[in-house]
Amino acid sequence: MTGRSEFTFELLVCAWAERKWPPESTSASPAIIVARQLGTKRRRWDTLIFECDPDGLRDRAKFGSERLDGDLLHVIRNAPPDWQYYRDALPHPGYPWRYVRKSIHRAADRGILETRKRRNRIEIRRKWSYSDWLRRVVAIENKPDLTASAARALTPQLEYDVAMGLADEVWVATTETGERFEPVLFEDLPVEVGLLTVDYESIERGDSTGDGVSGVLDATVHWYPRSLETDKPGTRILERPTIGDGDASAARFEYVDPGEKTATRLEIAERAYERGWRSYVETMRPDCRYFELRSKCGGALLPWCRAHDRSQNARECSGGCPAFEPEPPTWRTRGWPIEGGPGQGVQQLLETQRERQRPGL
Ligand code: SF4
Repeated sequence: MTGRSEFTFELLVCAWAERKWPPESTSASPAIIVARQLGTKRRRWDTLIFECDPDGLRDRAKFGSERLDGDLLHVIRNAPPDWQYYRDALPHPGYPWRYVRKSIHRAADRGILETRKRRNRIEIRRKWSYSDWLRRVVAIENKPDLTASAARALTPQLEYDVAMGLADEVWVATTETGERFEPVLFEDLPVEVGLLTVDYESIERGDSTGDGVSGVLDATVHWYPRSLETDKPGTRILERPTIGDGDASAARFEYVDPGEKTATRLEIAERAYERGWRSYVETMRPDCRYFELRSKCGGALLPWCRAHDRSQNARECSGGCPAFEPEPPTWRTRGWPIEGGPGQGVQQLLETQRERQRPGL
């Protein structure tokens, strides 16, 4: 399995999650945000699913599509309904107030907070209350080719996730082999982690015409995960002895306060709200004449390179690609340069699809 296939696999899992989450349900949840390659300084997940309160998600749209970072969240979540001096209204942030003032100005510039000056003091008032829109966080690790050594390499990361309890559920997604018992069941992965398989090979092959349009984008659950205790203190594993190396040192870890976990979850969710999973196109070359989006499995649009006649990944689809050719100017004549050519059309299409997942925007 190549890096190229891993990238496509990851996009397919994101597309599946957006349509079919929760697994084996008859209808998709209407309030799901899916993102990829997000996390913390120490841990980044391949796919993240945010289960949201439908009304809360709609209310979140009032603050715009751009994320609220941790500093903005502190101001927005604590802003009072009536005018108040900001130092009286907000809890002490744990860092100097001058940074809070900067966040207040940023929020005012974005039009999501009201400010005024009285007796040389900044007063603030909220425009809308910030809803509790996030319900659950689900992390999926994608390993299309889960060999025994890949599973061994993955295990410490999964143990870290289980001990931390930042996500409510952790899953591993891999390729379906069609065997009576999927090999992933025999790998020594933590029992708290769910296992699902995707019939990736048939999706890659496409239908009989070879265009990959037909087929059902689906996944099979082989093991359900245990719900992790996100509201209890987590254990952050900092260092562990090397198994089989005669390393007798003790593991090092630290406890993580539930409040810190809640704040981190919300900050990641805010980033997911801004980016979604289709932001991959921002690091690719949709302005290349060979770039296109192809529909796989009844509608999941994935990047396709006509020069290579296959799916390409974000790394190879860059300005350094030897086969890159800019789209000819004649392709842009309709509406160009205001609306751009097909490359911009691709971005707009993906942006439209992303916005469908964010009601109220
Ligand atoms: S030729 Fe290169 S830059 Fe163009 S679409 Fe293919 S991979 Fe991307």
